Amino acid sequence: MVAKVIPVPAFDLVLFGATGDLAQRKIFPALFKRFVAGQMPQGSQIIGAARSNVTSEEFQQTVAKSLKEFLGKNVEKKDEFNQFIECIQYAAVDAFSDKGWDKLKSFVREDTVRAFYLSVAPSIFGEIAARLKKTGIATDESRIVVEKPFGTDLETAETLNAQLRASFEEKQIYRIDHYLGKETVQNLMALRFANALFEPLWNNKHIDHVQITVAEDIGVAGRGGYYDKSGAIRDMVQNHLMQLLCLTAMEPPSQFSSDAVRDEKLKVIRALKPVKEDNIVRGQYRASANDQSYIEHSENPNSRTDSYVAMKVDVANWRWAGTPFYLRTGKKLRERVSEIAVMFKNPPHSIFSDMEYHEGNALIIRLQPDEGITLWTTIKDPGPGGMRLKQVPLDMSFAETLEDETAVADAYERLIMDVIRGDQTLFMRGDEVEAAWAWIDPIILQWENSTARPAQYDAGGSGPEDALMLMHKDGRKWRPIGE
Ligand code: NAP
Repeated sequence: MVAKVIPVPAFDLVLFGATGDLAQRKIFPALFKRFVAGQMPQGSQIIGAARSNVTSEEFQQTVAKSLKEFLGKNVEKKDEFNQFIECIQYAAVDAFSDKGWDKLKSFVREDTVRAFYLSVAPSIFGEIAARLKKTGIATDESRIVVEKPFGTDLETAETLNAQLRASFEEKQIYRIDHYLGKETVQNLMALRFANALFEPLWNNKHIDHVQITVAEDIGVAGRGGYYDKSGAIRDMVQNHLMQLLCLTAMEPPSQFSSDAVRDEKLKVIRALKPVKEDNIVRGQYRASANDQSYIEHSENPNSRTDSYVAMKVDVANWRWAGTPFYLRTGKKLRERVSEIAVMFKNPPHSIFSDMEYHEGNALIIRLQPDEGITLWTTIKDPGPGGMRLKQVPLDMSFAETLEDETAVADAYERLIMDVIRGDQTLFMRGDEVEAAWAWIDPIILQWENSTARPAQYDAGGSGPEDALMLMHKDGRKWRPIGE
C-alpha cells in the first residue's frame, strides 16, 4: 500500500541546537526518513546552528555518523543518503552574540517556508527569538518550534510565552509535545469523531472510569541531578498525560482545525477539579539486585522528588461528572507501556447472573509498544461445555493492519511536516500550557508544604502499594503493566 501524504512546500529548516542529543538522535533521523519517503521537496534545506565552530562539510559528517548510529549502518547504502546529507548546511551562532547571524541569514531564501526549530535549553528561547526578529531572518510568515519543557510552573511558562510573543505571533509558535505526534493519539480523534459507534457511549452513563498510564522501565541514572529538580508530575503529567486526558475527554470540535481542537482541549483543562493530597500517590524506586535506588541516582539523600505518581482526577462537566480519570506514570516499572484504557460499565442487568461475569468492556488505546487499539469484548467461551462467558481482545495493531512503515512513523516526522504545512493542531497553544500549569502548580505546592515522604516501590514492579489502594478504595483496579 502506498501511503498518501499531504505534500509540503520546499522549506528552509533552521535547527538550533543542531549538535545536541535530540537533534542528532531524533530530529535528523526523522528528517531523513521523510526525505526517503519523498516528502522533502527538491530545494529544501536544513541549516544546523549551534556554537561549535565547524564547517558545513564537517557538520554533514557528524550527521552522517549519527544517521548510521541511530538508523543502522545499512542506511548509508540507500540512494538517498548522500542526497540528504548535501541538503544540510551549518552556521556557527551563539544566542548571546551577534557573530554568525549574517552567515545564517545568507542561507535562508525568499519565497521558501522558513521554520526555526529551537532544540536548545528553554533559557535561551527568548534570546534566539529576539535575534531572529532583529536580524530580519524571521519574517511574519516564519514558524518557530520550541521543545519541552515549556516552563517549570505557571510563572516561568508565562515568561517564556511573553519572550516568544515579543518576536512571533501565536499563529507562528509551535510548542512540541511529541506524544501528540503519535499515530494512536491522532487515531483517538478519528476513532471518536469519524465513527458513529463510540461517541454515543463516550460519557459517564456508559464509562466507569478511564486509566491513563505512561510507564517507563528505565530509571534516571546519569541524569538524576536534572530529573530531581523536575519529578514525574512536571516531567510527564503536566504535558503528556494531560494532553492524553484532554483528547479523551474533550467535546467534539466543530471542525478538525487547530484552534477548534485546542479550544476544546482548553475547556477540559479548565474543568479539572483541584486534586486533594489523599487522591495522589508519589513514589520513588528502591534499589534492585542490579541497580541503585532513586535516591542514589539523584545523588540527593533527602530527595522527596517523585519518580512515580498516580492520581485520581475529576473532570467537572456534564459528560464526565462521576467518571474519574486515573493517571499514573513512573520510572523503573515492569515495562515501557503507554496507554489509555477506557473502562466501560457492566450491562445494567446481567441475564448471565449465575455465571462468572465481572469485567466490563474495555477499549485500550496503546501508544507504545506496538501502537494500536484493542477492544475487550465478552463472548461465549467456545465449545460444548455449556453457556460460559469469557473476555477476548479484538485487536488492531497498526503495524500489522496497515502494512506500511509510515503507520508507525516517528512522532517527530509527523510533527516537523505539520510545521512546514502550517498546521498547529498537534501543538500546544500558549493559553493551553498556562492553564495546565495553573492546575498543576497547587498540586506541587501542597506537596512542597507537606513533610510526607514518597512511598517506596520495587524496581521492575507496578509502582507503590499505595497506588493500588487509590483504586481499591473506589472498588477498582489498575490494568496490569506489561503482562
Ligand atoms: P543538548 O544535547 O545539551 O544540546 C543543546 C544544544 O544547544 C547543542 O547543540 C548546543 O550546541 C546548543 N547550544 C547551547 N548553548 C547555546 C547557545 N548559547 N547558542 C547557540 N546554541 C547553543 O540538549 P538536548 O538533549 O539536545 O535538548 C535540547 C532541548 O530539547 C532541551 O530543551 C531539552 O529539554 C529538549 N528535549 C530533549 C530531549 C532528549 O531526548 N534529548 C527530549 C525532549 C526534549 P553548542 O554547545 O555547540 O552550542
